[in-house]
Amino acid sequence: MADASDPNDFNLSLPQADGVERALNDPVSRIDLVVGDLTQPDSGWGVTAIVNAANESLLGGGGVDGAIHREAGPRLLEFNRTLDGCPTGLAKASPAFDLESQGIEHIFHTVGPVWNDPGSSEAAAYAMPGAPLGEAAQLGYLHEDTLLASCYLNCLRLAVQHEAKVVAFPAISTGVYRFPKERAAKIAFAHVFGHFATRPAPEFPHKVLFVCFSEEDANVYREIIQNRADWM
Ligand code: ADP
Repeated sequence: MADASDPNDFNLSLPQADGVERALNDPVSRIDLVVGDLTQPDSGWGVTAIVNAANESLLGGGGVDGAIHREAGPRLLEFNRTLDGCPTGLAKASPAFDLESQGIEHIFHTVGPVWNDPGSSEAAAYAMPGAPLGEAAQLGYLHEDTLLASCYLNCLRLAVQHEAKVVAFPAISTGVYRFPKERAAKIAFAHVFGHFATRPAPEFPHKVLFVCFSEEDANVYREIIQNRADWM
């Protein structure tokens, strides 16, 4: 029974490949979880694109955004001035500049939603991108959920467009923007899973890495991945 007062008690319903296609194409085999710093990827991870949890200015900020701008160098700021910002839920690509020395070719800047107390926000039913029509309307997704899902889907779209092999995502919106971590991890995992389920390898990206900044954050992902049958 869903507990309305707990934002992490949250179920998603997205299309999944089934039957033979599913047996040949296990989306989970293309998803990895690592603990570390997105700006210092282990060479074994093979990362070719990183996602930045940016703000609408795209001109740098705190958290992972600040770290990426520091490591990519001043050319990133100069380039991003030409992008004219980015609305929440969308994503824009830049070169990786000084991060190219780490094998990174692209940075996909996306702007996650700020989590508002659902009691005070529009807690109406929104359609989750990718969810079957009709069902979505009954599940009571919040506007913030659809915006966060959009961040993941738009970054995956950029990965397809730029033929990025391995894309590393931070846990968008779960820092300063206060999105509940488990709820955010469910949205992240389900949408990446859905992308892979409907686009078998060798389509781009070949792999997605969820880069967690702490073991504690990684445990949130481990649990939601292990127990996915209960909420997907
Ligand atoms: P937002 O404003 O979208 O909440 P933050 O940068 O504040 O973005 O945090 C997003 C997530 O990224 C948090 O879970 C935070 O712990 C994590 N994080 C911060 N710095 C790094 C880093 N260098 N590498 C990976 N994850 C990071």
